[in-house]
Amino acid sequence: MQNEFIINGVYVLSAVMFILGLKLLSHPSTARKGNLTSATGMLLAIVITLIDQNIIGYEWIAVGLVAGAVVGAVVAKRVEFTSMPELVSLLNGIGGLSSLVVSVAMLVTVEVDLSIVMLLLIAILIGSVTFSGSFIAWSKLSGNLSTIIKGRPMVFKGQAFVNMIIIFAILAFGILLAITPSNPHFLHAFLALSVIFGIMLVIPIGGADMPVVISLLNSYSGLAACGAGLALDNNLLIVAGALVGASGIILTSVMCKAMNRSLSNVLFSGFQTVSTQEMKIEGEVKSISSEDAYYVFEAAQSVLIIPGYGMAVAQAQHAMKELQTLLEENGAEVVYGIHPVAGRMPGHMNVLLAEADVPYELLLEMDEVNPRMESYDLAVVIGANDVVNPAAREMKGSPIYGMPVINADLAKNVFVLKRGMASGFAGIDNPLFFKENTRMVFGDAKDTLNSVIRQFSD
Ligand code: NDP
Repeated sequence: MQNEFIINGVYVLSAVMFILGLKLLSHPSTARKGNLTSATGMLLAIVITLIDQNIIGYEWIAVGLVAGAVVGAVVAKRVEFTSMPELVSLLNGIGGLSSLVVSVAMLVTVEVDLSIVMLLLIAILIGSVTFSGSFIAWSKLSGNLSTIIKGRPMVFKGQAFVNMIIIFAILAFGILLAITPSNPHFLHAFLALSVIFGIMLVIPIGGADMPVVISLLNSYSGLAACGAGLALDNNLLIVAGALVGASGIILTSVMCKAMNRSLSNVLFSGFQTVSTQEMKIEGEVKSISSEDAYYVFEAAQSVLIIPGYGMAVAQAQHAMKELQTLLEENGAEVVYGIHPVAGRMPGHMNVLLAEADVPYELLLEMDEVNPRMESYDLAVVIGANDVVNPAAREMKGSPIYGMPVINADLAKNVFVLKRGMASGFAGIDNPLFFKENTRMVFGDAKDTLNSVIRQFSD
């Protein structure tokens, strides 16, 4: 009784720390504290759960704790920043897998009521879908299985029909399992079908939509944990699962809004990477050397920096900060325009720029910079492409038509820093590069910025 009181008390404390952590994570200046607060809450929860008298032996738990902590720390330390979305997607998959394993273990070892069996089946279904779906998302992002699972949507005739059959089969085996939970054949079939369903859900979605999918799968992993928590009668697992589930779905909806698409459009329509190739783009590409670009930088009084994925690839954020300081010393006002899906994960640019100590107040959202675009002497696009593509505004048939973009082309002058004429993640051409007021500054973004910096210093 006393034990139970202490355990529940600590669980409440952990839950409060999770919520506080989430709140602190909402601002870059407090984000580290938020991370630490949530992690401490989780550690407390793990330790107190271990004191629970139902635990039979600590040896395997200790092995799991040490192995998990070591692998987690090494992977997080080693991962390239550009590969962070892949890591997040793998972690989601592992989250789903753990809920799945716990629920299966409970189903086969403990005799429980029908209501608990139903909860366990739901947790197994969502856990399996999260596991296999995240694996496919990881593969699409990393290109590791590129010959098998490509980044582009995989669609085939009768896909919807096959999905329907899978759903009916899952339902049928679910009912059979509810009647005889200990039947291994039914369980294997249910598991296999759920895993296949996860694969089927993600393969028709294109690489460019993977961030939304990852965020949604993150939400699923929370729901699976919530289901497992209900079945295990573990309050903290229910709270933590609900928090993950809710925050994942909020992020998903924010991202869909940023792309001006509905969730069902993302999930079921397969982002089409066609048509702009056939669309006529007028104008010609004009390039400028970094030496000549320097004079425009020097004359500019208001400069808007628009970073994108290429800035992360080039690791150009520190050079950008250095140039920002030089421009400010030269009397210019410098701000950054951040698109919600610039880069490869939500908040990607904010984190990179925070790492380079760019003051947070200088980071403006798309809705703040667009109305003032004509007033900027110079818009500098650093490794961004899709998020500044005016086709979203101008070309009706474009796959990104309607997506809100930063209207860089409306600034007085535009510099685009990129290595060549390659398209961005969505795989479509960009009319911005052909505009009258645009100059391409070809080369690695960091090299280009460093070259301009050198001329400022000479
Ligand atoms: P894009 O992927 O559209 O474009 C990046 C550009 O960077 C490329 O065109 C590339 O051109 C250039 N680049 C690459 N390396 C360098 C380098 N070393 N120096 C200079 N330039 C370089 O990026 P955006 O940020 O504009 O758009 C993000 C896209 O990714 C959107 O389509 C979005 O939906 C999607 N996405 C977003 C996620 C998110 O959550 N933020 C997650 C996953 C996808 P070149 O090769 O010619 O240099």
